[in-house]
Amino acid sequence: MKILAFAEQQQGALKKAAYETVGAARAVAEKLGAELVTLLVGDNVASLADELGQYGASDVVTVEDGRLSEYAPAAVARAIAEVANAEGADVIYTSHTAHGKDLAPRVAVKLESALIPDVTKIDAENGSVTYTRPVFAGKGRAVVKSATPKHVASLRPNVFTARTLESPASVSTRSAAVAFEESDFATRVVDTSLSSGKKDVADADIIVSGGRGLKEAENFHLVESLASALGAAVGASRAVVDAGWRPHSEQVGQTGKTVSPSLYIACGISGAVQHLAGMSSSKYIVAVNKDREAPIFGVADYGIVGDVFEVLPLLTREIEGASN
Ligand code: FAD
Repeated sequence: MKILAFAEQQQGALKKAAYETVGAARAVAEKLGAELVTLLVGDNVASLADELGQYGASDVVTVEDGRLSEYAPAAVARAIAEVANAEGADVIYTSHTAHGKDLAPRVAVKLESALIPDVTKIDAENGSVTYTRPVFAGKGRAVVKSATPKHVASLRPNVFTARTLESPASVSTRSAAVAFEESDFATRVVDTSLSSGKKDVADADIIVSGGRGLKEAENFHLVESLASALGAAVGASRAVVDAGWRPHSEQVGQTGKTVSPSLYIACGISGAVQHLAGMSSSKYIVAVNKDREAPIFGVADYGIVGDVFEVLPLLTREIEGASN
């Protein structure tokens, strides 16, 4: 059995999710006695191989092309599928990031294989692998197994811990040639710009989110101050996004972003099922709500029954004091 882990990079820098994917793939390979090959696709990406070695990659294949300096979905999918075929890989892992969500189905179609998206747990034993993934907007969990040996699975970011190895093996890097077609680059990114200089909730390790309990847009400075004390990103419930208090890019939930940070602090958020769908796989959840019956306390590891207007300034002051 051979596993191929696709290590996602953007503009020459590896994503945190790449380390997680390689680490998870390494763990499965070790349990099953399978081989692991790690794939890097981009322009001048071979230098990233050593970094991946610290997370468990020892055999790295690179596909490099000047046209891949910007993300080109059809071309990257072709590269993954062609390398998977050439290497004889049965199992292909990508991250379930924005790019991974786009790539994994394309690769599965090309390989005519099963697709298991948004995986939050992998169990590998006795030669077989089962995957756990949230279903029905996070209300349930499905444990699934591929009916065919060949399958593609995308792993939810921030769920699998990226740990560096104490004694990483040396990394061997090989390059693979892929016969790209002009149509693989039919659409090209000509310019990108950040909508703001702020941290994106999708990439953040700590998120402080605010809801309707903040009463009005102007009071969000309380959430922003706590976020800045923690080096966190600001998130929001749909209620406050719909009210125009916060941009949609900050919305967490079923119709917003799915996040799995190490720490999620929900302030004045009731915990509607559609909100929980986007954040319930966070490692630690802290809720601040004045209603002790609020559903958010059902998923919280730590709950503060209190008024956000009192609790948030206190928390911010304590955290600022502790870090000075
Ligand atoms: P509320 O439900 O009004 O909760 C406010 C909370 O603040 C209450 O629990 C209250 O006790 C508390 N509170 C009030 N004052 C204070 C105070 N001073 N101090 C402390 N606590 C206080 N929602 C999302 O968030 N994300 C989504 O992606 C999303 N997608 C949806 C998709 C569909 C199809 C549908 C139908 C709904 C969706 N929703 C989504 C909306 C969701 O159902 C809820 O309406 C929304 O999450 C509620 O936002 P909230 O918790 O901020 O507001």
